[in-house]
Amino acid sequence: MRTDILGVGFDQVTLDQAVDRAMALLEQDGPHLVVTPNAEIVQQARSDPEFAALIAGADLVLPDGVGVVYAARILGRPLPGRVPGADFAGALMARLARTGGRLFLLGAKPGVAQLAAQRLQAQYPGLNLCGTHDGYFQQDEPVVQAIREARADVVFVCLGAPRQEKWAAAHGGQTGARLLVGLGGSLDVFSGQVARAPEGWQRLGLEWLYRAIRQPARFKRVAKLPLFLGRAVGARLRGK
Ligand code: UDP
Repeated sequence: MRTDILGVGFDQVTLDQAVDRAMALLEQDGPHLVVTPNAEIVQQARSDPEFAALIAGADLVLPDGVGVVYAARILGRPLPGRVPGADFAGALMARLARTGGRLFLLGAKPGVAQLAAQRLQAQYPGLNLCGTHDGYFQQDEPVVQAIREARADVVFVCLGAPRQEKWAAAHGGQTGARLLVGLGGSLDVFSGQVARAPEGWQRLGLEWLYRAIRQPARFKRVAKLPLFLGRAVGARLRGK
């Protein structure tokens, strides 16, 4: 059973449970899709039925942002907590480093995924990083082939939403990977190009504000958050 937040169903899982579920999915034939919607993505899904259907059909739907967790509380059906995509990815890599699973990094500007791979390799000794590709390609086939030849078990698909989910759904099967995870701008963070909010900000649930201050272009996106929470209040008042 998923918890419906303004049309998107979220799994009721903590970070540890999410990683356990992902590891279990890796034991079964793929492709499996993990998505990490935040408030902005829930809004996008409301006006993009194809995207909404993709999320509904995903194997794991994790609440990336604090906005989703607040909306859940407003709606009277709280989630166990936020499961930020970057934290989920980190915990998954720690497990993969122990089990030997092969990880491919796809997305971001040329050079960024390679840099991320170098840093992640140092951070998670034993992690089997089997390949990288930037996210600014015109043709899908060479990318699919690169993943297939790398014999990846897991692919972090970091092309931004909804492109990454649509790409994973359309091409996941051909890649041979068992698990594809949509992770937005995570490679920019893993490569050190973009700093994550300090822990205090994260604890207060203000990571979105920190990112908006550091990247003012984001303010327009963040400005939609009150509208999102307003929708949750409206839905609660209408008894939905
Ligand atoms: N990106 C990409 N290919 C594209 C467009 C974007 O690889 O055609 C990358 C972009 O470089 C960035 C990520 O996708 O690394 C999207 O980051 P953003 O911060 O917008 O995503 P969010 O984390 O907010 O979903």
